[in-house]
Amino acid sequence: MQINGLHHVTAISGPARRNLDFYGRVLGLRLVKKTVNFDDPGTYHLYYGDADAAPGSILTFFPWDHAAPGRLGVGETQETVFRVPEGSIGYWTHRFVEQGVPHEAPAKRFGESVLSFRDPDGMRLALVGVPGVEKEPSWSEGGIPAEHAIRGFHSVSLLIADAAPTAAILTDVFGFAEVAREETLIRYAVQGTEVGGIVDLRVAGGFLPARQGAGSVHHIAFRAADDAAQEEMVRRLRENHGIRTTEQRDRNYFRSVYFREPGHVLFEIATDIPGFAVDEPAAELGRALKLPPQYEAHRKEIEAVLPALD
Ligand code: ZN
Repeated sequence: MQINGLHHVTAISGPARRNLDFYGRVLGLRLVKKTVNFDDPGTYHLYYGDADAAPGSILTFFPWDHAAPGRLGVGETQETVFRVPEGSIGYWTHRFVEQGVPHEAPAKRFGESVLSFRDPDGMRLALVGVPGVEKEPSWSEGGIPAEHAIRGFHSVSLLIADAAPTAAILTDVFGFAEVAREETLIRYAVQGTEVGGIVDLRVAGGFLPARQGAGSVHHIAFRAADDAAQEEMVRRLRENHGIRTTEQRDRNYFRSVYFREPGHVLFEIATDIPGFAVDEPAAELGRALKLPPQYEAHRKEIEAVLPALD
């Protein structure tokens, strides 16, 4: 069955060990896959997610030891937002103080409590308190009580100059609909998708274009149930919007096409299948370095150049 919404968010970070410490220990996410950048196998590709490594919970990083810092600008993902139980915002505020995580005071956005913070590379993140999510299963890592754990994505916000062309893609191709407006934000949501079902467009003129670097989101991926659902989205992009995607690429855990949407944000369409348990048992996700078949013969050389994670 097709479920629309976010599949994953991929960002650029500084050193891998610091990235793992922050997302694994400070935020308590599950490391669900430890592999290499398929286009640059001397560097890691780290995947974090929920207990099931479900689409809609997956945040991935390309860590580079010497990545120059990015600069947020128009045509880029501004903020990546996770869900936590409504009553957990106080817990997280306290944790950020205790762990020295730069953050703002909790604020209201579309009536929800939002706690904005930054990772060690300056990536813009937030937690939103959502009523009822405390009943959902959770992954408990880094000493965070299960009741307060992060439960997948709430949303992303995109900083763009003009909402309409991007909105047309969200609504016509990915099943979103406009649900609310607040100041310069327009909220789009997929009805019935609780995890990763929201995209906010922030319309901002006068910003410089983004410069990608450490702390920048590289791209965001939307879900397609399978190849047929992806092909239908590709057809709609081509026929209704005059946009061509790349050829499909096999990312081992999903199959992907890419395109730059009219607001210049790099979008991907990723299949839900086969998923992260395709090359290791679900109980052991993220423990061993997994390589795609084309690199398995070079495992020794690859392991020798990858930085130690612990
Ligand atoms: Zn991706």
